[in-house]
Amino acid sequence: MENDPERIDYPFINCTNCGPRFTIIEGLPYDRPKTSMKSFRMCENCNSEYYEILNRRFHAQPIACNSCGPVYKYKDFGKSLSDIKQMLEEVSKQIVSGKTVAIKSLGGYHLMCDALNNNAVSDLRYKKQRDSKPFAVMFRDIPAVRKYCYLNEIEKKELQSWRRPILILKQKDILSYSVTNGLNTTGAMLPYMPVHYMLFRNLKTPAVVLTSGNISDEPIIIDDLSAEKQLMPISDSILSYNRQILNRTDDSVIRIIDKKTSIFRRSRGFVPQPVDLKYNVEGILALGAEQKNSICIGKGDQAIMSQYIGDLKNPLTYDFFNETIDRFSDLFRFKPEFVACDLHPDYFSTRHAELLEDELNIPLLRVQHHHAHIASCMAEHGLDEEVIGISLDGTGLGTDENIWGGEFMIADLKGFRRFTHFDYVPMPGGEKAIDEPWRMAFSYIYQYFGESFDYTSVPLFNSIEKKKLMLVKEMIVKKINSPMTSGAGRLFDAVSAILGFCSVATFDSEAPMRLESAIDGNTNDYYPFMTDKTIVFADTIKAILEDLPKVNFSVISAKFHNTIARVILEVSKQIRKETALNNVVLSGGVFQNKYLLEKSVYLLNFSRFKVFTNHVVPANDGGISLGQLVIASKTRR
Ligand code: FE
Repeated sequence: MENDPERIDYPFINCTNCGPRFTIIEGLPYDRPKTSMKSFRMCENCNSEYYEILNRRFHAQPIACNSCGPVYKYKDFGKSLSDIKQMLEEVSKQIVSGKTVAIKSLGGYHLMCDALNNNAVSDLRYKKQRDSKPFAVMFRDIPAVRKYCYLNEIEKKELQSWRRPILILKQKDILSYSVTNGLNTTGAMLPYMPVHYMLFRNLKTPAVVLTSGNISDEPIIIDDLSAEKQLMPISDSILSYNRQILNRTDDSVIRIIDKKTSIFRRSRGFVPQPVDLKYNVEGILALGAEQKNSICIGKGDQAIMSQYIGDLKNPLTYDFFNETIDRFSDLFRFKPEFVACDLHPDYFSTRHAELLEDELNIPLLRVQHHHAHIASCMAEHGLDEEVIGISLDGTGLGTDENIWGGEFMIADLKGFRRFTHFDYVPMPGGEKAIDEPWRMAFSYIYQYFGESFDYTSVPLFNSIEKKKLMLVKEMIVKKINSPMTSGAGRLFDAVSAILGFCSVATFDSEAPMRLESAIDGNTNDYYPFMTDKTIVFADTIKAILEDLPKVNFSVISAKFHNTIARVILEVSKQIRKETALNNVVLSGGVFQNKYLLEKSVYLLNFSRFKVFTNHVVPANDGGISLGQLVIASKTRR
């Protein structure tokens, strides 16, 4: 059978150990009639292999061949083709000529163009209404990756793993500017479907941009009709196939930090792998946070987390959230008996939890955001005792109604005590201060140095309209729409803006990413800071402003990151002195910063702390639902 002409170059070839699974399943047990393969009747050959115990395709549910399985179809404005070889030649021609092709992948549609053609990439950015957020790139093979990225052995292994994630790598050479827009990393992946391999046989370019087929921040499109309607206008052709995608899954995104896997986006390849716990979580439904939402259900002593859902403020993403709750309930025969959500009353996930509380008459628990971050990491490592919990992120509602995010707590799964936190500063304009990091730069400087500071001495403020600066100052002074925040993300925003890396963000976390990206070389120097009731950064900001005209920005950035790592060490020591606790749990989106996390872990280990970080679920808000779930399990008893 191995030379079976029906299998050679068949673009849906698979065996028992490979091929799709989660994306095609509609119910359990995982048998062909409960997958989207049910509409394809096996031919005689496939049927005999399926039942032949020694065959590599024994019980491979998606088994198929040219004569019985799904087929690709190609469509552009002029022609429609049915032969796969012709289709791939046509797609290659389009890519070479700088066009965009929509291609149906495993968990949704992608948009694809030549990663070495800057015009093509910019054009795709414009049509997809995508700001300057970096695009992921699929490389032909490992040598192609090595030409453009630094790759160590651990990274190579991850890149080649069956999960085939997008791996964030340090850039060696630029593909085309518009792919990463000045950041020093590239999100790289290798082909993971037969059609990807077949395509690279035809393609001259060693790398293509492969980005979610959607407009702006909407969920990745999985439905063929929607794809034609929405993607046809922004692509030059569509390469699709006639098997339904039942479960939407984005490409997962990971980075190797401190020689281990950090998951930034947990989806294809990782879901629905459960997290094993030592306690019963049956019947708990945790609905996560707002951005980067995921949900988590409890089955026995396992937590099963959904794929990355996205930002619930988007109505289509909210629909996806609802579908996911239904799909997971069906798939795992799950019935919610207890629901957990964030403390924030306005999150769509919170409102949905309240709805379920009423409709199903079940108890609801509101979990503080940073406590949930810490608990997500504790759940991964089987920790159930008190720990030093350090959660650094952007935004999460605190129990005092301020916006937290620079939190040092003594926590277990039942509760927490806030030991100290980053200084509160106003966020002039609320959410607007997240989009415009220059506002946070102003806010920090005004907080620490007030009226008398010479604002014209900072180049950043000379680039901002005077009227706007005055308005922001008014807001702070009169306390108008200026919530107080201890968010670490806002401090990173402020420093990035002061250095001129990013005064207005065009995508989530751009300012901190650019700040991290600027670090070059090695310095262990750090700036002064003060830990008292709160952690005060007046001396830090003062020293940065003094360095500004005379020190290389890459050094300033490194020194700033070292400062935060020092704060983490210093406060951990204070807590250890008071409580004798020695286990430090680090979680929250800021710990996606490779430099910061590695530095912090190094310093803590050196001072003989035991450090725990997220590896199974994201340290960002994508991991919150797991934390909520385990906290709920301890509370409901
Ligand atoms: Fe968070």
